[in-house]
This record gives sequence, C-alpha cells and structure tokens, in this order.
Amino acid sequence: MDKMNEYINEAEQVLLHTYNRFPVVFDHGKGVCLYDINGKEYLDFCAGIAVFALGYGNEEYNNAIKAQVDKLIHTSNLFYSVPAIEAAKKLGAAAGMDRVFFTNSGAEAIEGAIKSARKYAYTKDGSTDHEIIAMEHSFHGRTMGALAVTGNKKYREPFEPLIGNIRYAVFNDYESVLSQVTDKTCAIIMETIQGEGGIYPADKDFLKKIRKLCDEKDILLILDEIQCGMGRSGSMFAYQAYGIKPDIVTAAKAVGCGVPVGAFMMTQKVADMALKPGDHGTTYGGNPLVTSAICEVLKQFEERRILDNVKEVGDYMYDRLEEVMKAHDCITAHRGVGLMQGLVFDNDLKPASEVSKKAIENGLIVITAGSNVIRFIPPLVITKEDVDRMTDILNRSI
Ligand SMILES: *Cc1c(COP(=O)(O)O)cnc(C)c1O
Repeated sequence: MDKMNEYINEAEQVLLHTYNRFPVVFDHGKGVCLYDINGKEYLDFCAGIAVFALGYGNEEYNNAIKAQVDKLIHTSNLFYSVPAIEAAKKLGAAAGMDRVFFTNSGAEAIEGAIKSARKYAYTKDGSTDHEIIAMEHSFHGRTMGALAVTGNKKYREPFEPLIGNIRYAVFNDYESVLSQVTDKTCAIIMETIQGEGGIYPADKDFLKKIRKLCDEKDILLILDEIQCGMGRSGSMFAYQAYGIKPDIVTAAKAVGCGVPVGAFMMTQKVADMALKPGDHGTTYGGNPLVTSAICEVLKQFEERRILDNVKEVGDYMYDRLEEVMKAHDCITAHRGVGLMQGLVFDNDLKPASEVSKKAIENGLIVITAGSNVIRFIPPLVITKEDVDRMTDILNRSI
C-alpha cells in the first residue's frame, strides 16, 4: 500500500467521521497550487473553502505571523493588544462598521450576531420572545444558534430543539419575508450571496426592500459575509455593491487567510443597545497572533490591489464558464459574481459530485455547493492563465 493510503487509513481510525474526504493528503502549497505528499500538483479553485485568498507560501504573510509568534501569541481579552486594535480599526473601516468583536470561527460570529440582535430588542422592550427571520437554503454554521438560522432541515433536525423563535422565508422573495414579520421580529439574517446553498446572489431590489423594511420597523439586518465578504465578490463586502449597509455583519474565512479568526461587527446604534461588559466573551478570540494575520491580509489587499484583480479575473472567469456551460448539455445554469461562481449540473446526466471527484484526480480542486452545483472560489490572486488552465481540466473532467 502506498504512503498516501496508509495515512488515509490511519486518519479514518482516529478522526471522527463527519466528512467524506477526498482521498488526498496535502503536503504544501505555492501560489495557487497545492501539492500532495507524492509531489502531484493541484490547481486550487477551492482555496480551503474561500479562505486562502492571498495564495500559498506567501512570504510576507508567513513572516508577519512568525514575527508575532516570537513576540506574543496570546494574552486573553482581559488586556489590550496592538494587533487587535489595528485589525479592528482596519476591518471595521473596510466594512463600514463602528464596533468589532473577534471570534474564532464563522459559526461563533453568527452566535454573536444573534445574541446582539436579541439583546438589542430586549433592551428596547424587556421581553424575551423575539423572533428572527432566516432564509431557506441558507448556511450559517454548525453550532446550535447558527444551525437554528440555517435554512436546511437536513442539517437541523437531528439536533433539535435548537434556539427557538426562528421563522424561515424564501430568499429573494420579498413577500415571503414580509409574511413572516410580526411585532416580535428583532432581526432578519441572510447571506448577501448564498454560498453552501448553491451560489445565489441576493437580488438588488430584494435587498433594498429588506433594508427599507428593517428601517421602518427597527428590525436589525444581519448580513452573513463569511464566505462572500473579504473581496470575493469584487467589493470588499458584497453589500457595498448594493448601496446598502447592514446593522450587523459577520466575517470569517478569508479574514485571517488561514489562521482561525472571524468577527461580528455592528453600527454604533446597535452597539449602544446590545452587548455590554459581562454579556459575551471568548478566551482566544482576536488574540495577537490571529489579529496580526488580519492586519497583514488587509495590507496586502491594498498593496496588491486585490479588488481590481477579482473584478478583472472574475469577469474573465464568467465568460470562460459561460463557454463551458454551452459546451456541455449536463450544465443547466451559471451564477455568481467576482470569484464566487457556480455551474449547475443536471445530476441525472452528470452528478456534480462526480465531476468534482474527477477534476481532483485530474489535478484541479473544485468542490460542490448544494447537491448539484460546482463552485469556483479560488484564491483572489489567480490570473487569467490560471482560469484557462482550470477550464481545460474542467472540460476534460466533465
Ligand atoms: C463557512 C460559513 C459559515 C461557518 O463558518 P465556520 O468558520 O465554518 O464556523 C457561516 N456562514 C457562511 C456563509 C459560511 O460560508
């Protein structure tokens, strides 16, 4: 048995089997490619699920983290640290938010957003029966609160009862949302571009109407930008292209480009009425190590003009994927913006999961979203040549 299979067998004996993993053991990465332990190269259009935005083996990023390791890794949130202050200033400014709370993951950022919304409403009227409206086919994470607002029964049901008073509406259907609003509604939560659910951007008109509804009724709009934020859509945060601002934003994935960190952020108005000392906390969250990574990530976003690259290469990828769609009857639709796009497969003709498996065999990492979508979420530093290479391997794999 070769070394790779030996590792895989070992893994399956010790790791809890919550993932059906692809049979690859990665060893290292460089630029937009990963290499397995046998030295085989894979062009990466997954980026660790929209995390590794700035490419692998990024020397300046690695050096920034190493320098912080030698200086100070952790102090707890009972004290101040310079990287956390800098990261909060920069990230808050990028999102147009006044207040930042750092978390260790996306799900934890969602928990914080939910708590903030509930506390805001509680401060207003002192009652404890507030409701949150979430969207069908949404994905917000695996903890009990995040799961409760995830619009996919399959993920939720075995773990019920989750947190209560959640209502579900149809994404991009304003009337459906309106029909779920009551005088107990404290928040509406959605992804600006649904990721795991199959790459569905919010319609402009829909999001604008939701914003207006929230303003009229003092309902908080929570936008989950954990996947679509940090430049992936071509704007730093996807809502910036809609001309609206949420009251609370969640971020994670590419925020630290590989170190475990996320954030929930809010306007001053929400902060004034939401979490106070003693209401919320985290031991690790936003420690000097992970926040030094955020500072370096945001610095590189500016210096390397990442948003320009996403727009240019994203448009190019859009055109190339249109060609791929036209060349194959098994592809029925193409959605997305920037470097967050999806091709919809007719699973009866060709299951998306099979295409993904085949592509990985052929040295291209692409993963699925929903049951029938292949999603393209590469590092944000890819070039047009990388896109050409991707479509070649993809065509062959289909
Ligand atoms: C990945 C994801 C989450 C959960 O983030 P974790 O870091 O895995 O907890 C939440 N919302 C969206 C939109 C995501 O893509």
